Amino acid sequence: MSTASPGVRPAAVEVHGVHKWYGAHRVLNGVDLTVRPGEVTAVLGPSGSGKSTLLRVVNHLEKPEIGYVSVNGEPIGVRRDGGRLKELSERAILAQRSRIGFVFQNFHLFPHLTVLDNVAAAPVATGRLRRTDAQELARELLARVGLTDKAGAYPRQLSGGQQQRVAIARALALRPGVILFDEPTSALDPELVGEVLAVIEDLATSGTTLVVVTHEIGFARRVADRVVFLDGGRIVEQGPPADVLDAPRHERTRAFLSKVL
Ligand code: ADP
Ligand code: MG
Repeated sequence: MSTASPGVRPAAVEVHGVHKWYGAHRVLNGVDLTVRPGEVTAVLGPSGSGKSTLLRVVNHLEKPEIGYVSVNGEPIGVRRDGGRLKELSERAILAQRSRIGFVFQNFHLFPHLTVLDNVAAAPVATGRLRRTDAQELARELLARVGLTDKAGAYPRQLSGGQQQRVAIARALALRPGVILFDEPTSALDPELVGEVLAVIEDLATSGTTLVVVTHEIGFARRVADRVVFLDGGRIVEQGPPADVLDAPRHERTRAFLSKVL
């Protein structure tokens, strides 16, 4: 939980009136969301409700038709120019994106690199660290996710749970202001889910700002400061887990929870 008082530090993530559509299909329908520094936000909602699109808009993998996103007070993908929003260059967007961690459902590790080099690659590619320093950082991060002994292995030699822990270490290597997780345990065998959730929970308790799309209701109840329920591209309900999960006010939230609990 953040100890910063509002107004002293900017929000970690601020989604301002975002609409996103594909042709006639409206996927996000006016989303406003504020995530404070150090806060853990769990995003729940049925399949197709726009959860992945929301995360992809936050790091500008998708450009909203209306509205914009700020991360640590800085507009993403655009700059203000006399009251209008102007698109940034691809290079500037990449620099912004490198400060936002993203962990995918299917890990997306580089198959031809060792675990150590998967974690060390981005700080080198972005010119932030020399290779030896990046590898030292990678070793620290692998220790943090419990994979010290796998540094020399290749992704295909690891279990899904181990691969996802590498992906989390890789996200941490850029020291991001926020890490976005898109259903990080959905592709895992049930017995591997716990080890990945334990790593995410460790980040949460150490004050990292996290936005986690998940169907793991128990995890959301235990770890999230706030739960956001998305349906039909809108935030239907949000609040502390005890409110949204145990005493939902909206019928659609109740219907969804009755299916997943
Ligand atoms: P969720 O993650 O909640 O399951 P998504 O954000 O992936 O939902 O998708 C929301 C809706 O947008 C779905 O109906 C999906 O088919 C549609 N959609 C997502 N990406 C695209 C795209 N690139 N082109 C067209 N439709 C898309
Ligand atoms: Mg999704």
